[in-house]
Amino acid sequence: MLKVFCAPARYTQGPHATAQLGPEIRNLGLDGPALIVAGRSAVRLLSDTWAKTFAEAGMRHEVFRFAGECTAGEIRRGAQAARDAKARVIIGAGGGKVLDTARAIASDLALPVVNCPTIASSDAPCSALSVIYTEAGEWAEYRIYRRNPDLVLVDTTLIAKSPVRPLVAGMGDALATFFEAKVCVDGGAKNMRGGASTRSALCLAELCYKTLLADGVAAIEALGRKEPNDAFERLVETNTLLSGLGFESSGLAAAHAIHNGLTTAPGTHGFMHGEKVAFGLLAQLMLESQPNSLVEEVLAFSSSVGLPTTFADIGIADPSRELLGTIAERATAPGETIHNEPIPVTPELVVEAMRAADAAGRSFRESMKHTPA
Ligand SMILES: [Zn+2]
Repeated sequence: MLKVFCAPARYTQGPHATAQLGPEIRNLGLDGPALIVAGRSAVRLLSDTWAKTFAEAGMRHEVFRFAGECTAGEIRRGAQAARDAKARVIIGAGGGKVLDTARAIASDLALPVVNCPTIASSDAPCSALSVIYTEAGEWAEYRIYRRNPDLVLVDTTLIAKSPVRPLVAGMGDALATFFEAKVCVDGGAKNMRGGASTRSALCLAELCYKTLLADGVAAIEALGRKEPNDAFERLVETNTLLSGLGFESSGLAAAHAIHNGLTTAPGTHGFMHGEKVAFGLLAQLMLESQPNSLVEEVLAFSSSVGLPTTFADIGIADPSRELLGTIAERATAPGETIHNEPIPVTPELVVEAMRAADAAGRSFRESMKHTPA
């Protein structure tokens, strides 16, 4: 198997980066008109900056307002809007679902794509795949594209003004990266591009985990002040770039498959991708019978930033046997990344691992209560 590493063609991050969007696109040799697929708050916060930066770059732009879910229907509507605008580049500006939709539209029309995340809530912005959901909000499929985005532009001034929850959810997504990467590397499993992992990808995944532990709490404090600082810049890079390169070029395992299973439980629908992945990771560590010291390190980090560690934390307190069975069936469906784990994984094992994760999460919380501050 050949080793494959992939990445966006260009990654630009820093305070007020949006002001450079037009010139950055031009620097890549791309031309307008641009169709901007945008969420509501992106339109409100960025319209004036877009007008300026695209005028400066001499590019026309139009905005397509995202309806809220990355579904096949929304992708069709966006593609029609792009055809109507005679767009030559698609830009996504918003959260993960907006960017997933923008990538799908660009792929359908064979156009270059630019991702401008307005929150650091997942590692999706750098990747060449989208997660498509049904109209009912259930995970439907991964769509894999030929190429990674042409540009990922991350405006940390904007992200510093976002709510804390998406940033923490992004940490949950990033928390799983190294552990899933390691499983794939150790087992010689294929990464998301169908190749073997490189030393580079695994190294980035490890840096991803280390940076979370070092900068997670400080980044939340910076968000509270609404001002990016060095820890915040490193953390945003971790959630967005390191986690993105790590997962895509090394591969996924149980944590994301269990996340996919959790999306079948309506109680979890109000929870973000990374929140469910964080719980999925705990279950993965149980499935792999990882040592207590490692489980406690992960639990301590999750608790320090407010990531879920129990069933109740992801909206399914006291789940029935049937509910857990349905989640586990979905998590172990043929082709799921859980089969990259070194042991044959059955639905029964997944139910057991999820129960063990919940129990570990509850007893850790209980022990914290009794620890003098
Ligand atoms: Zn993810």
